[in-house]
Amino acid sequence: MTTQKSHKLLMIPGPIEFEPAVLAALAEPTPSHVAPDFIEVFGRVLDNLRTVFQAPDGQPFVLAGSGTLAMEAAVANLLEAGDRVLQINTGYFSDRMAAICERSGAIITQVRAPAIGDVPALEEIQMALQQDHYTLMTITHVDTSTGVLTDVQTLAQMARSAHTLSVVDGVCSVGGEALPMAEWDVDVALTASQKALGVPPGLAIVMARPRALALFQGRTQPVASYYADWSNWLPIMQAYQSRKPAYFGTPPVNLVLALDVSLAQIIAEGMDARVARHIRLSEAVKAALTALGLGQAPARPAVAAHTLSAPYFPEGVDGAALLAKINAAGVVLAGGLHPAIRARYFRIGHMGAVSGADILAAVSAIEQGLRDVGYQFDAGSGLAAAQRVIEG
Ligand code: PMP
Repeated sequence: MTTQKSHKLLMIPGPIEFEPAVLAALAEPTPSHVAPDFIEVFGRVLDNLRTVFQAPDGQPFVLAGSGTLAMEAAVANLLEAGDRVLQINTGYFSDRMAAICERSGAIITQVRAPAIGDVPALEEIQMALQQDHYTLMTITHVDTSTGVLTDVQTLAQMARSAHTLSVVDGVCSVGGEALPMAEWDVDVALTASQKALGVPPGLAIVMARPRALALFQGRTQPVASYYADWSNWLPIMQAYQSRKPAYFGTPPVNLVLALDVSLAQIIAEGMDARVARHIRLSEAVKAALTALGLGQAPARPAVAAHTLSAPYFPEGVDGAALLAKINAAGVVLAGGLHPAIRARYFRIGHMGAVSGADILAAVSAIEQGLRDVGYQFDAGSGLAAAQRVIEG
């Protein structure tokens, strides 16, 4: 069994380090999914999700599954064969969303970033919106393969002006990046439990605002996916919201207990304070990487996510060897994911309950790893740069 001391600090872009109280909920004796106490917990979770997504008029759906199911549930309920989708493509997870939309029989138009690490030009998106009518615009808020952050506020506004619904993949953003759904008028946002919401993997979460529900309710064809069909889940979510028992598929009871604990912690911190903490800690990591002479995948700070960093390995350094050394120094980081640059970069997750002390531990392990693989740098410069940002 892993002990507190033998446990390595997990700083990948999900799953992340979880709060002890969240983990303790997983060890609770499992209640019935229709027990009054559990109904109260699930109802509170749905209420609190509206607070965290900043969508007072939103309908949350919490399903057993990973983020990919959340992506599929969101679009499968909204798309019918022959519908057009405009996809804002910023990397690996945007490609996945395109593949999912295609399964619904939709016709996909992609607007791609000019280069890996960048975002598509707004003029190109505007042109595409003028040429055709799209049912949905899909946006990856943070593409976890490149660490690229999209301007959801502007994109959602462009979609609205074109009478197109916006669907935001917030798997690597919800609970870490600013995403005030109602204020930005985003129609659907989705996430998974294991990232900035701070709960072990297993929950697929979708928030649908009124226009999305109206589109779903006006469908002419049944939803192709039986499990993800909102016709099955909407009555269940509504029942829990009004504190009544209901059953369609057995909910992952202990994960819902854990989500209840985590959402309470998130709300106690406050959404603005939480986003500000993510920005500050992200800037600390990025300052350290720059001080150490490492470039980053995002083209410029304005398109860089705050939930993870994606640094390039220094010239001449064996990436796999470096990650192994960092691991030996006690910190687990992730390798590359985007196929075009996979071997050239690595990824550091910094979301959820991450603290300044975690950031310093990670930077220290990176410095140790860099020294062990023979990279020449000013020892301590990364730590000093991170510390300056953390101290403000
Ligand atoms: N979208 C994004 C932006 C992601 O980062 C991920 C997971 N890394 C997914 C979707 C898919 O989530 P899951 O792995 O939980 O299916």
